[in-house]
Amino acid sequence: MRTISIFGATGSIGESTFDLITRAGGPEAFRTVAVTGGRNVARLAEMARALRAEVAVCADESCLPALRDALAGTGVEVAAGDAAIAEAADRPADWVMSAIVGAAGLVPGMRALRHGGRLALANKESLVTAGPLLMGEARRLGATILPVDSEHSAIFQALVGEEIAAVERIILTASGGALRDWPLEALARATVAEALAHPNWAMGQRITIDSASMFNKALEVIETREFFGVEPDQIEVIIHPESLIHSMVGFQDGAIMAHMGAPDMRHSIGYALNWPDRAALPVARLDLAQIATLTFRAPDLARYPALRLCREVMRVRGLSGAVFNAAKEIALDHFLAGGIGFMEMSGIVEETLARVSSELCLERDVMTLEDILGADHLARVRAGEIARARG
Ligand code: NDP
Repeated sequence: MRTISIFGATGSIGESTFDLITRAGGPEAFRTVAVTGGRNVARLAEMARALRAEVAVCADESCLPALRDALAGTGVEVAAGDAAIAEAADRPADWVMSAIVGAAGLVPGMRALRHGGRLALANKESLVTAGPLLMGEARRLGATILPVDSEHSAIFQALVGEEIAAVERIILTASGGALRDWPLEALARATVAEALAHPNWAMGQRITIDSASMFNKALEVIETREFFGVEPDQIEVIIHPESLIHSMVGFQDGAIMAHMGAPDMRHSIGYALNWPDRAALPVARLDLAQIATLTFRAPDLARYPALRLCREVMRVRGLSGAVFNAAKEIALDHFLAGGIGFMEMSGIVEETLARVSSELCLERDVMTLEDILGADHLARVRAGEIARARG
């Protein structure tokens, strides 16, 4: 029987993964090794029971008594804390979903690679912060990383049977997020609730705000560079408000392969779960005659400074991805807490990149996990100082 683990099971991607696993037979079809969550122990315990998991782990140690109570008498082991999540990743599984949000997903993903199985990677922050290390470890250990981000799954699928050398460009589509039609001068006043009203995708809170600011797309540009190994100037971003084309690959002969489907993450999660095969998935089918029109427009860099900043991150590479991501996470925390305005997030990230690069050489050919975690930590401290000074 195939063994699986789900990291970040209680989140949006985790729920969709649980749904597909359950529909495919749950514990009759898969042996679940580990499920992990952050604080939502009631849901984590339900999932652990339903999948008859070996171990359930919550990140927040203060939630451990509640998790223990909820799973008393079930035989499911319980644990809490970051170290326990990393230890859960040490338990071998054939297929591991990496869907913790933020840089917290990096260490469990790296540890899961050690078994040489398949890592379904939703946690884009892992590739942004540690792309060369993660991809190098996967090659060294014979593990397969399968992209789960819808754009990267689309590109991955468009490349089946193709040589990467035949690729001229990769075109990432972006919905533009909740604020895409707002006048530029109004963006500074956007509230959290307004930035959360995503027109097409139902996602976790953090990625939804990142979608409105295009920090999400900026992370995906870097993710594309690291995962597919293409040059930065081969990666384009285009706004496609309908979110029906999930991304495109342009080849040397001028042909463009586009991947289309309903905006439902179960497409790409299901592809990663069944890869290299395809299986029927419970997603809506497109009625093209009813859709009738697809629209595209170039992104305005004045609205989306994140798209400019990610180019600089790719130029420097090394530790700059870790600094960029950490600063973005702190700026987002401050926006969510009401301390800064929507457009200030990019200013904080830019200032943090400048400040940290004056303290630490970011350009590196070789990096260790410790280097990356050190840069992440320093960037969080500096971004916090910068955000408080602005707030
Ligand atoms: P959610 O916020 O919905 O879920 C995040 C998950 O991580 C939850 O299980 C949460 O636990 C857990 N978690 C939060 N903080 C920590 C922590 N410090 N340590 C361990 N676990 C933690 O996020 P999404 O599902 O939206 O996103 C997950 C990842 O997938 C992100 O990297 C995102 O960029 C990526 N992604 C998401 C897409 C989407 O459609 N949602 C699309 C493409 C990529 P709890 O809720 O119990 O506190």
